[in-house]
Amino acid sequence: MPHPEPTPPMLPVAEALAIVLGQIAPLAGESVSLPDAIGRVLAAAVVASDPLPPFAASVKDGYAVVASDGPGDYRIVGEATAGHVPNFVIRPGEVAYITTGAPMPTGADAVVMVEESELLPLQAGAPRVRIHTGVKPGADVRPIGYDVTAGETVLPAGIRLGPAEIGVIATVGRAQVQVHRQPVVAVLSTGDELADLQRPAGPGQIRDSNRYALAAAVRAVGANVVDLGIAPDDAGMLEEYVLRGLNVADVLLTSGGVSMGDRDYMKPLFRKLGEVHFERLWMKPGKPMTFATAEVAGRRRLIFGLPGNPVSSLVTFYLLGVPALRKLAGARDPHWHRVQATLAQPLALDGYRPEYHRAMLRWSQELHGGLGGVLATSTGNQASSRILSLRSANGLLELPHGEGVLPAGATVTALLIGEL
Ligand code: AMP
Ligand code: MG
Repeated sequence: MPHPEPTPPMLPVAEALAIVLGQIAPLAGESVSLPDAIGRVLAAAVVASDPLPPFAASVKDGYAVVASDGPGDYRIVGEATAGHVPNFVIRPGEVAYITTGAPMPTGADAVVMVEESELLPLQAGAPRVRIHTGVKPGADVRPIGYDVTAGETVLPAGIRLGPAEIGVIATVGRAQVQVHRQPVVAVLSTGDELADLQRPAGPGQIRDSNRYALAAAVRAVGANVVDLGIAPDDAGMLEEYVLRGLNVADVLLTSGGVSMGDRDYMKPLFRKLGEVHFERLWMKPGKPMTFATAEVAGRRRLIFGLPGNPVSSLVTFYLLGVPALRKLAGARDPHWHRVQATLAQPLALDGYRPEYHRAMLRWSQELHGGLGGVLATSTGNQASSRILSLRSANGLLELPHGEGVLPAGATVTALLIGEL
């Protein structure tokens, strides 16, 4: 049966993203152990309670000296090694051997590195050293609080934790850290034609790839997946699956069933369960992408009704779903990063819609007269059914709609969807 309703307007992607992000508040904080905090976003600032270093420490292997003594031959009165508090003091005319990170002995105010010294023969059984160079007071000594002062905010809330930030938290002595909860995302495939890959595909069937690709994309941003399986094209069954997802997850990703066919039941279902905010994007691939919200169990759930074509579902998830998950997980700026790229080959423009052309981006030193730049190579045939057009793609080229062809060498912007 042909669709009786007028076609809804097509929304530019930037406007659609603003609508999606406008519906989202970051999830609450939870306490996790430090090794599990990698990739998470801090929900509360981390403040140092003690200074680092907590004692004046040597920066070099060498000799702790009294700076005003200057070059000359000195008696070595002790050894200060890392991890041990020296049990002696240094008076003018004396030095102590010291290792990197060791506490400075009382009385010494500078360190001369070992390269500037020369051991002398024992004199009356006592070790001696020749110091070749003069140093200023404080030379090669890290004073108390040099790296971190007591009371200093070492990490503000909202920062994403990478290896360095994990190290910062360890150095200030926290075994637990407050981070935003990661979203739970339910993933559902819809369509009578879909077979799970555990079973052979029957006549007229194809394998469900979207659920696997989308679940992997969700996990890649650190969120948790609930696999809802495959629902048939049946309004009642679809409602059961969708309600199950909305009950357990912060976000529901469905694929398929949002086009203009008479078995495309998703939009009326979303309208029945909540509010549809937009249902067509002015872009390709992925025009029928639909976004809705629903209040379930007292909380607002986000619903992304993604198109069924494998490329369309993954590209629209990248464009709108990934920033949404990032904002839920606490990111202050959830937007994609862009780079300028130079086309390796001519690309034809679409006359009606902006296109997100899948491309492999890499640094090329030859570009821009040897200054170097990012070169974009197309993944080939951009049909929205052809998932191989996403193979090895780390960028989506933002091609404007228009007539004709962009020549090789033209500059375009690219969204980074993988590592450069
Ligand atoms: P639909 O959006 O339901 O009209 O589906 C559009 C196209 O995508 C059809 O050719 C479907 O067979 C295909 N498709 C839908 N869902 C999936 C899926 N989960 N995995 C692979 N292809 C799919
Ligand atoms: Mg379908």
